[in-house]
Amino acid sequence: MLSRWLAGWQRLRNERTLRRRPIPEPLWQLTLARFPFLQRRSATDRQTLREMATLFLAQKEFTGAHGFEVTDEIAVAVAAQACLPVLRLGLHCYDGFVGIVMHDDEVVARREVIDDAGVVHHYDETLTGEAMENGPVMLSWRDVEAAGDTAGGVYNVVIHEFAHVLDMRDGVADGVPLLENRAARDAWSAVLSTEYERLCARLDRGEVTRIDPYAAESAEEFFAVASEVFFVAPSLLMEEHPRMYKLLRGYYRPRPEKAAA
Ligand SMILES: [Zn+2]
Repeated sequence: MLSRWLAGWQRLRNERTLRRRPIPEPLWQLTLARFPFLQRRSATDRQTLREMATLFLAQKEFTGAHGFEVTDEIAVAVAAQACLPVLRLGLHCYDGFVGIVMHDDEVVARREVIDDAGVVHHYDETLTGEAMENGPVMLSWRDVEAAGDTAGGVYNVVIHEFAHVLDMRDGVADGVPLLENRAARDAWSAVLSTEYERLCARLDRGEVTRIDPYAAESAEEFFAVASEVFFVAPSLLMEEHPRMYKLLRGYYRPRPEKAAA
């Protein structure tokens, strides 16, 4: 009873947000023009995406790091791309975090590892984005903005980091998102590991792959990179990793894109 009441209350709240704080038309059109893989969605999808992005903006808290100013243009660019993977899964998939920290450019993080002998090693890691369990999500605006240009290959930091968020919903970052049961998880793991090993073997042989070799870092990075390609250049993933493409299609359940003009 309570959950029905809550669902009703949530729906009313969402309707009010959509009515009172819609993304202005010029800003929405600018966002679509900037990211062609959003523009390519069907009219129904673009409408749903716009509404989800509006609710996303109302639910999440953007912070600019070191004085960086998060403008509406920046927040909408992030929201629209972040909502693409959950267009069919639902915005509740992102309920586990609230904060999004924006940097103007990539960030150098000081890391620490302890080896088997107990010796502490320090090293620097350059990050364009980072997702942590229960948030916040960190993103570099320069990299978010670069996602519109796919001439040099698919690179989408927003979809990448939000795929990590989906991956971590079951409490483990392992390339296996929250699925309905054990059988589904086993089937997922089998495809993921086979396709991941295949990529690693190709790179070991010195082959040039059309998907970012960073995917060979680990199974979870493979899932995140494959998700980027799935949404930005699906035919490329279909050609390079058909089984991974099919797996992601079953999970993200995208509607067909609009026919080319
Ligand atoms: Zn990653």
